[in-house]
Amino acid sequence: MTRHYNFCAGPAALPVAVLERARNELVDYQGRGLSVMEMSHRSDEFVAIAEQAEADFRALLNVPEHYRVLFLQGGASMQFAMLPMNLLGQGGSGNFIQTGIWGKKALSEARRLGYACHVAGSSEPNGHTAVPGLDTLDISRDAAYLHYTSNETIGGLEFDYVPHVSRPDGKQVPLVCDMSSNILSKPMRVEDFGVIYAGAQKNIGPAGLTLVMVRDDLLGRAQSDIPSLFDYQQLAEAGSMVNTPPTYAWYLAGLVFQWLRDDIGGLEAMDAINQRKADKLYGAIDRSDFYSNPIAKANRSRMNVPFVLADAALDKVFLEEADQAGLLNLKGHRSVGGMRASLYNAVPEEAVDALVAFMADFEQRRG
Ligand code: PMP
Repeated sequence: MTRHYNFCAGPAALPVAVLERARNELVDYQGRGLSVMEMSHRSDEFVAIAEQAEADFRALLNVPEHYRVLFLQGGASMQFAMLPMNLLGQGGSGNFIQTGIWGKKALSEARRLGYACHVAGSSEPNGHTAVPGLDTLDISRDAAYLHYTSNETIGGLEFDYVPHVSRPDGKQVPLVCDMSSNILSKPMRVEDFGVIYAGAQKNIGPAGLTLVMVRDDLLGRAQSDIPSLFDYQQLAEAGSMVNTPPTYAWYLAGLVFQWLRDDIGGLEAMDAINQRKADKLYGAIDRSDFYSNPIAKANRSRMNVPFVLADAALDKVFLEEADQAGLLNLKGHRSVGGMRASLYNAVPEEAVDALVAFMADFEQRRG
């Protein structure tokens, strides 16, 4: 068996221990004589798997009792639509901080559906190289929530603060955060947020599953005519089983949560590892004149590290040679070009060491 180092932005690397455990349980799950994929989602076996996954996730992030955790389909992109449908059903506007492509999509989807939207802040003037400061945010009088993207996966721009804001009348505005690409990368305070959501295919598990955490008081504000499958309250009441949930992805996510707890030692340990990985790669980029990354130091993403070569004509050969060296998926997003190394939880520190060594060698030979 050969495992290469996979720097894909998503679907991303999964822990080898998780894949091996899944392989061992694939055909005959714990002596039950069938695969998890073949079980009824209402069976005792699957309900136990689902409940354990939720309990482990809650324990990892210290999710308070008054938050529902939903295991949904449709990707983070479906939340772009479900959020305004659920939170603006009784009026008000969605406020948005724009720090890159994903936040922009969240805003345009809400607008497309006809909801009132307001841009509260944007990093567009600086080319999305630094997040807007808290004191520059402009919150509308009718703000029902403030949406932001804690880590912009394509630009590699990560918030270094939680934007707690109030309306002009002093009322606190619930925060809604797209954490698709940095959830579980470090400890955090769930209670700072009204809604948190994340597509699974980076730090949670395989594609096909989306995790949503909703504070109880935000349930029941949905527009009455939305499809049942979009309604947080109905989904919460049915334990995310209004219809058949993505059972196998849910099971794999549960294995990832166990890996984080048992093999890594929890989110503080994960945080320290992720910091070391990011420091090594940004350090290598900053020490060289051949590689560069434009993001303000405080907002450099620890999960997605975009970088360019001094000579873009070498991009193709860089990627080819990296691939041959077992360093996969380093091509930047199609909208921006260049390179991007995603350093999610399941990317081991050795992968970063190998990448840094490859980059130094490449620079020496071709730079
Ligand atoms: N938000 C962010 C921050 C993302 O990185 C992505 C996917 N790369 C999305 C939303 C969209 O996710 P999905 O493909 O699951 O809809």
